[in-house]
Amino acid sequence: MMNAYFITEKDFKNFVSAMVQSLTVIGPVAKRKKFVFAKLESAEDLRLDYDVTLLPPKKEFFPPSQDMVRFEKDKYEGCISPQEKILLGVHFYDIKAIDMTDRLFREKNEDWNYLANREAATIIGSNIQTISERAFWGTVGKDVPPKGHDGFITKINGGYVYETRGDKGEALVKFGSFAKATDAQVKEARAVNENVMGKCPEKLNRSSKEIAEKVRKAFSKEAFWEALAEDCFSCGSCNIVCPTCYCFDVQDNWNLDQVSGARTRYWDACLTEDFAKVSLGGGATENFREERAERFRHRIMRKASYLNEKLGGPACVGCGRCSAACTSDIADPVNVINKIMEA
Ligand code: SF4
Ligand code: SF4
Repeated sequence: MMNAYFITEKDFKNFVSAMVQSLTVIGPVAKRKKFVFAKLESAEDLRLDYDVTLLPPKKEFFPPSQDMVRFEKDKYEGCISPQEKILLGVHFYDIKAIDMTDRLFREKNEDWNYLANREAATIIGSNIQTISERAFWGTVGKDVPPKGHDGFITKINGGYVYETRGDKGEALVKFGSFAKATDAQVKEARAVNENVMGKCPEKLNRSSKEIAEKVRKAFSKEAFWEALAEDCFSCGSCNIVCPTCYCFDVQDNWNLDQVSGARTRYWDACLTEDFAKVSLGGGATENFREERAERFRHRIMRKASYLNEKLGGPACVGCGRCSAACTSDIADPVNVINKIMEA
């Protein structure tokens, strides 16, 4: 079911207030000069004019640390307990990233620690009102549309167009004074979303297919990767802020009583030194990506080439978070990819 509604600016605030009073609503809120996805306490908290959030909304389904099993002596129980929530104001590139993690956590063994949270969520997108300084979503994976959301809000003159994409999105209409949107309002919303696509400060100049092929061919250019990674601290920040990174590490943590504890997973980062270190038994280890250039190359390969077939496009949505998070300012995929394409 797909319907389009219109709500005035003033009524929109009441709509958000009504939702906040009876549901858990997560949305972009200000944190000093930046933005984060957090629980809204009131409609005033919501900042749909945000540029990009520090961490992507995937943390609502796949938190930085997540208990999977709790145990006590020989008893154990799973920790899956999804909470229904509304994710309000998700930009289209983050919806695309959620589409990817949905697919990755579903393939082979379905990961219900992620999927249960995901299925309990309603995702409402919103148009980009402010463009972040490192964004390049306008030129990456252009033929991959966002599809995992339940509704989408676009700010137009005098109010907002709300387009629903099914029952979950439709269920929110009762919280606001919506009217059916006119064709002109739907057209205006479409134009707002189309116009923003050409405005990113950074650009990739080639198609995802051409990029995937040429990046892969650059694998053996050792000196090229070494030069790029020369200032890398192996801090993993570029992984941690990325909406499409999904690696995790599992640890058993024992309580002081030494009979109870929890098996917990934590976000992991392939740029860190120990990520690819494995045990050979008998105390011996092997690190199969020991050099930082190898790790740096691995991230770019994953984002621009390795996963393309499985995901139907690159595993990068152009949010620019990695570029902004990197102390050395070397993580920006646009710089690396454009260098490869020009060579
Ligand atoms: S690689 Fe960088 S720009 Fe691409 S999705 Fe991840 S954080 Fe965003
Ligand atoms: S590329 Fe930058 S953010 Fe990524 S690990 Fe190296 S220094 Fe850290």
